Amino acid sequence: MLQTEVRQLIEEFRKLPGISLKNAHKLAYSVLNEPALKNVLKNIVSITEKLEICENCGFFRNHSSTCINCSEKNSEICVVATYSDMLAIERTGCFSGSYHILGGLIAPLENCLPEDLLIEQLRNRALKDPGIEILLALPFSIEGDATALYIKDVLDGTDVLLSRIARGLPAGCAPDVLDRRTVLEAFSGKTYIN
Ligand SMILES: [Zn+2]
Repeated sequence: MLQTEVRQLIEEFRKLPGISLKNAHKLAYSVLNEPALKNVLKNIVSITEKLEICENCGFFRNHSSTCINCSEKNSEICVVATYSDMLAIERTGCFSGSYHILGGLIAPLENCLPEDLLIEQLRNRALKDPGIEILLALPFSIEGDATALYIKDVLDGTDVLLSRIARGLPAGCAPDVLDRRTVLEAFSGKTYIN
């Protein structure tokens, strides 16, 4: 019953994470019904074209300028698995250094290998800033432990102070689930591991 273009529009919206079929229908209807929303879509495209993921630290950066997260000198780097984890930490205001977003955790059964993550890049950052403290804010899970251990080995021989937060961040939690108290508790202490 739907026109091909409408069906295509719904399919495109469905490709976005977190958009159900119902939401895709709603969005398609809204965009076609409210002309101002077409501009919103155009703006999204034009803004995203200026941005990219920094290949050095995993954070967003404007591709015509240097990355604000990893280009400035910091005394501490907080290593997280995902952007969501970083957001949850950032919201609490309990960390003021720079971040390193690995892009996941080592999980061979899910085909996520060390080379798929920004681990070598973390080593490069460590080599660039001798004496820097690297705080691992990773889940206390099999994958989180394996990743922490792997990073410890990779950083062996570099001049860094490597620590891990006292309690891991719960694995696979959306940032809104990862509440402020959980994050603050996780950051309430740390263990030095090198
Ligand atoms: Zn960067």
